[in-house]
Amino acid sequence: MNIEKLMQSLEAKHPGENEYLQAVHEVLMTIEDVYNAHPEFEQAKIAERLVEPDRIITFKVPWVDDRGDVQVNLGYRIQFNNAIGPYKGGLRFHPSVNLSILKFLGFEQIFKNALTTLPMGGGKGGSDFNPKGKSDAEVMRFCQAFMTELWQYIGPETDVPAGDIGVGGREIGYMYGMYRKLARQNTGVLTGKNLEFGGSLIRPEATGFGGLYFVKQMLETAGTSLKGKTIAISGFGNVAWGAATKATELGAKVVSISGPDGYIYDEDGISGEKIDYLLELRATCNDIVSPYAEKFGAKYIPNRRPWELKVDIALPCATQNELDKNDAKLLIENGVICVGEISNMGCTPEAIDLLLKHKIMYGPGKAVNAGGVATSGLEMTQNAMHLSWTAPEVDAKLHQIMSEIHTQCVRYGRENDGYINYMKGANVAGFLKVAKAMMAQGII
Ligand code: GLU
Repeated sequence: MNIEKLMQSLEAKHPGENEYLQAVHEVLMTIEDVYNAHPEFEQAKIAERLVEPDRIITFKVPWVDDRGDVQVNLGYRIQFNNAIGPYKGGLRFHPSVNLSILKFLGFEQIFKNALTTLPMGGGKGGSDFNPKGKSDAEVMRFCQAFMTELWQYIGPETDVPAGDIGVGGREIGYMYGMYRKLARQNTGVLTGKNLEFGGSLIRPEATGFGGLYFVKQMLETAGTSLKGKTIAISGFGNVAWGAATKATELGAKVVSISGPDGYIYDEDGISGEKIDYLLELRATCNDIVSPYAEKFGAKYIPNRRPWELKVDIALPCATQNELDKNDAKLLIENGVICVGEISNMGCTPEAIDLLLKHKIMYGPGKAVNAGGVATSGLEMTQNAMHLSWTAPEVDAKLHQIMSEIHTQCVRYGRENDGYINYMKGANVAGFLKVAKAMMAQGII
């Protein structure tokens, strides 16, 4: 495989799609050896076929706000690869959403979903709609307008969307209602639904829980544990909430959360009612964390990121490229032992290079945060069987899946000196599964 040539051709075809090009480059670099060991992959142009989505659906979403003004947003669904199962992946509603961001997320989702051991292909979608400051009625009208267009492209065996940044239970509910009305089917086509109409227990906390199960295994493999460790978390949404809950339960102390306005340092630890307060903070839809400091008497550091704190573990839980080279340098100087991305592509490539160079344990998002989509897969299974599992049943399955993902990463990521390159392990394991499925199914 000639990575440089492939990247040049992608850059020429998709200029300025930086996040997408970044995600593709990372995967190609890490799978190069195993790719070259299989000449049949090159012959079937697996890499060239894998890096382009099967199709991209874009549409406009006109809706009326509370003042009676007409608003027009853009909607997207990227159906990236369905070699191993129906397209599966979240919808992101955020003003930053564009084709590059959704293509990077959809591309990552292919490998992440392959790692879960469940039969799910990769997809992603969303809109540049900004839920911040919108009323419930506005969110409902937007979600209905969005689904009016999207419904014809999705289905329980075709493409199963879910939540992501800006899309939680409320948005999924409104979209599911509209889908059901248009399709006249109640087949659970979205995951992340409320419990009353086909949702799964543990789904809201699954990304954070799964992330901590994975980090726990990373630490245990290195001969240590979460007990007594200090953790810096970024973000304050659903994922940060689940991660803080499980980290505390497993004996660690979470000392930070963050928002676009800055971060909170709580040296007493963010636990108990303070964790539940995160859900309240999020519900205000103001996208700020500063009220936490006033309520609990903690420190609020405006316009900075929590990676300058002296902690044992750093868990990015907010968004892509939220931990850069300088942050990694600070963390390393302060003695960090593990960085686990619970956000998608949370670290920049330069930050990852530095962490690997210093042999710091680094878990990539597509492995560490796969518990969310894995539990979505379990929701699909429950819907297909028309039954619901108990919370302990779902949690046990999630635990098992995270453990299998860890095993695959170790299998393909262990280096000669014993260091485990989880990024390489995750990419190679995910890639091999999809590539073998593509090979078996011919040129399509
Ligand atoms: N948005 C989540 C992710 O990045 C969940 C996707 C899903 O549940 O389909 O994996």
